[in-house]
Amino acid sequence: MAKSLSADDYRQMAAELTPRTQAFIGGQFVDAASGKTFATVNPATGTVIAEIAECDAEDVNRAVARARAAFADGRWSHQSPRNRKRVLLKLAELMRRDAQHLALLETLDMGKPIAEALAVDVGSSANCVQWYAEAVDKVYDEVSPSGPHALGLITRDPIGVVACVVPWNFPLLMASWKIAPALAAGNSVILKPAEQSPLTALKLAELCAEAGLPEGVFQVLPGFGPTAGKALGLHMDIDCLAFTGSTEVGKLFMQYGGQSNLKRVWLECGGKSPNVVLSDVADLDKAAFHAALGIFYNQGEVCTAASRLIVEDSIHDALLEKVIALGQAMQPGDPLDPATKMGAIVDQRQMQRVLGYIDQGVREGGVLALGGRQARVNSGGYFIEPTIFSGISNDMTIAREEIFGPVLSVIRVKDADEAIRVANTCDYGLAACLWTRDVTKAHTLSRKLRAGSVWVNCWDGGDMTMPFGGFKQSGNGRDKSLHALDKYTELKATWIDLT
Ligand code: NAD
Repeated sequence: MAKSLSADDYRQMAAELTPRTQAFIGGQFVDAASGKTFATVNPATGTVIAEIAECDAEDVNRAVARARAAFADGRWSHQSPRNRKRVLLKLAELMRRDAQHLALLETLDMGKPIAEALAVDVGSSANCVQWYAEAVDKVYDEVSPSGPHALGLITRDPIGVVACVVPWNFPLLMASWKIAPALAAGNSVILKPAEQSPLTALKLAELCAEAGLPEGVFQVLPGFGPTAGKALGLHMDIDCLAFTGSTEVGKLFMQYGGQSNLKRVWLECGGKSPNVVLSDVADLDKAAFHAALGIFYNQGEVCTAASRLIVEDSIHDALLEKVIALGQAMQPGDPLDPATKMGAIVDQRQMQRVLGYIDQGVREGGVLALGGRQARVNSGGYFIEPTIFSGISNDMTIAREEIFGPVLSVIRVKDADEAIRVANTCDYGLAACLWTRDVTKAHTLSRKLRAGSVWVNCWDGGDMTMPFGGFKQSGNGRDKSLHALDKYTELKATWIDLT
């Protein structure tokens, strides 16, 4: 386990840090073909951390050519699953060896608290890589029940060149959820991190090379969405595009797939998750704790943020009071301080967007029960107070649209039927929570909730064995678990005539 460090230790490490800044193409760290760079900014201070290679279509072409060559000659795709396992286990070990460094990069780049970056982002990412490494030589193909005259083989082939385009809220973890199963299945993978948070992806490239991934099998192209991201989406020689990000951009990727080579497009998009607390909840304190965690964790920049708290009338006031008290105790602090529970919003644009939603909530008649303002204004960074609105109806803008910040909408309902109706009245269907002590209600109502993940008596339950993804406009396909391997393989039916 990584040694625990103090805020001063991290500040010292940050001052001495020289992050990777070049793209990783064909086994080398290189400048963008255009020579252009862009600044990556520390959202806790507003200062520039480094100038990063700004890749565009030409770099995409270079990387795809290397990825295709690697896939075609079988240097990774034809390795036995056991050999791929060995390399990926080494990668997980290296991620743990460099956990403090990775966590520091993540915190500096996107503003999350260092303790969470270490435990959740880096810890869970290494676990994810290890999980797929261990799984891949234990997954069997099928033989069809076809009788003695023929042999029907149903196998999964790696799909080829996989591009992964990921967001900034969990840069390393969202990348790991994609690259680990894609690499384990034998593909060549190109990763485009979000422009706000490229640093851990570049460090990951270094670790992949050290772990022994052959040249061209894993490449990283930092750059902007409308240039590098779009070029990946439209490329004629990419077989699969795995995306995590907003629904708006997810829709663009579906179009890119249709406009180009019909590449497989897998989307993990936004959410507006309901957290339904019924009057027979067993433990109101636990429900309050998870309600606060569900919206303030990672500054609310979580696709599954439990942003709509839907509460039965009889317990509404008691629960609200507890959630306000917990929110009040989660004021933002210096992300480099291991005691900090809430950090900075990723950039100024996102902070303004969240503050805009708060104004809108007030204008539409919501009651501001906590927060609502920018915090730590003298830091130079972008912080927002934990914010709670009560008196919200489900048709208000802040109850319908994904805010992606620390803003909770509390909706009062008269009974369980109304709660489920409100929960499902939403364009999204990523996750939902349900709190009840009644086992029959837990089963019947969780079936009625239209969401890819339903958490009963908790928020964000689960582990690597559970698939993750959305219903409705929250996306398609699933990350995590063995189901994720479906995205990165093609199903092949081989019929051998034995007559
Ligand atoms: P975003 O959609 O703006 O960007 C995501 C990625 O797409 C980035 O790498 C970006 O560069 C790229 N991109 C942006 N515009 C593009 C374009 N025109 N063409 C091609 N690529 C483009 O999302 P974000 O702001 O980085 O992240 C927040 C969103 O991610 C939220 O909606 C959140 O719910 C979602 N998210 C979903 C999950 C999930 O698993 N369902 C997990 C984390 C985040």
